[in-house]
Amino acid sequence: MDFSLGDEERAIRDTARAFIRNEVMPLESEVLRRERAHQPGLRRDELRELQRKAKAFGFWGLDTPEDYGGMALPAVTQSLIWTEIGRSFVPFRFGGEADSILFEADAAQREEFLIPTIEGDRISCFAITEPGAGSDVANIRLRARRDGDDWVLNGEKTFITNGNDADFAIVVAVTDPDRRVHDGGATAFLVDRAMGWKSEPIQTMGEGGPASLVFDDVRVPHRNILGELGQGFTLGMRWIGKGRYIIPSHALGIAERALGMAIEYANTRQTFGKPIGANQAIQWMIADSETELEAARWLVLRAAWTVDTGRDPRHASSMAKLYGAGMVNRVVDRVMQIHGGMGYTRELPIERWYRQVRLLRIFEGTDEMQRLIISRDLLRGYTKLGGHLE
Ligand SMILES: Cc1cc2nc3c(=O)[nH]c(=O)nc-3n(C[C@H](O)[C@H](O)[C@H](O)COP(=O)(O)OP(=O)(O)OC[C@H]3O[C@@H](n4cnc5c(N)ncnc54)[C@H](O)[C@@H]3O)c2cc1C
Repeated sequence: MDFSLGDEERAIRDTARAFIRNEVMPLESEVLRRERAHQPGLRRDELRELQRKAKAFGFWGLDTPEDYGGMALPAVTQSLIWTEIGRSFVPFRFGGEADSILFEADAAQREEFLIPTIEGDRISCFAITEPGAGSDVANIRLRARRDGDDWVLNGEKTFITNGNDADFAIVVAVTDPDRRVHDGGATAFLVDRAMGWKSEPIQTMGEGGPASLVFDDVRVPHRNILGELGQGFTLGMRWIGKGRYIIPSHALGIAERALGMAIEYANTRQTFGKPIGANQAIQWMIADSETELEAARWLVLRAAWTVDTGRDPRHASSMAKLYGAGMVNRVVDRVMQIHGGMGYTRELPIERWYRQVRLLRIFEGTDEMQRLIISRDLLRGYTKLGGHLE
């Protein structure tokens, strides 16, 4: 058994690390200053400029097929890169990407939606959650009614990331109320903001909050259906599934950076004539954090590896998302404790991480939904104890 990285994986990881350290981390104090003044940490033009710089470094479209100018990297390599991104709290991501399901676009949709999104000229959002349908996503009510060559959309979506900035939304709507949503009753539509939907920011404890979207007789041409009529639920689940190993990959980077700060602080902060790191209470917090971090790392890399090896990644990804999200919350909490009063101030980014990582246990499938999936797989015999080694 070999747990080491290949030469190419290591080279790409190290280049990503150098880019984040040299180009992204220097922006951190300005990002904190702006966010504390209730402004976006990074403006759209600044993000694009950084993404252009990263392109010159060779990073463009981590997951995007080569036909579209992307790198089409294996999931393990993408996971390693997302861990590097997680080391900085600057809201940065590499460019050249589009929602995974947008690649279902037909020829005309490719020109209008997919390519401009990859190029960064248009911003998308993905909207499935509604006020009455979050975990129970099959309960969506936003209705699309056929009217000649158009569909007319009425209803509301909520908690939509990028919903305030998006130029268009990928909206999952009920097209056939006589069928169940997960059995052909729902369809995904590409809906321009210019077609008339409205967004309203939702205040949250994190930075850059989501939005609620209101559709009041929004007319969408039939040609704007993404994929097939009735395929909306399948596409929605595919969109959500993709994030299940990316989210904990990002969490690993946050936890590593925060724990590194705590180790340095434990070695330098003196109380009662010795560094606080000389106390077992502090040592145990560091030891527990490192152990959980490593456990999460291997769950995450295994989940990515199941994608690369063509195995069904759902069970492994749910475990990675559940454990990785919990791990980073526990680590950041301990890191704050080790920093004492300083950890609670806004001079350090720890309180920002503390607020940010709480979301990871909620969105793209709550802890409870991941547990439901993991236990159901075992109880129904879809997955064997012992995983792929059996
Ligand atoms: C900041 C943010 C960004 C988001 N971005 C997007 C986005 O871009 N697009 C999008 O479509 N959605 C998005 N979401 C929505 C997110 O996916 C949902 O909030 C999440 O799935 C939970 O749904 P809910 O909030 O309706 O909670 P509910 O489903 O009402 O759940 C409430 C609580 O009950 C628990 N629960 C529910 N059912 C069960 C059960 N059967 N057994 C045990 N426990 C249960 C849940 O785990 C949770 O703890 C975002 C949410 C947030 C907060």
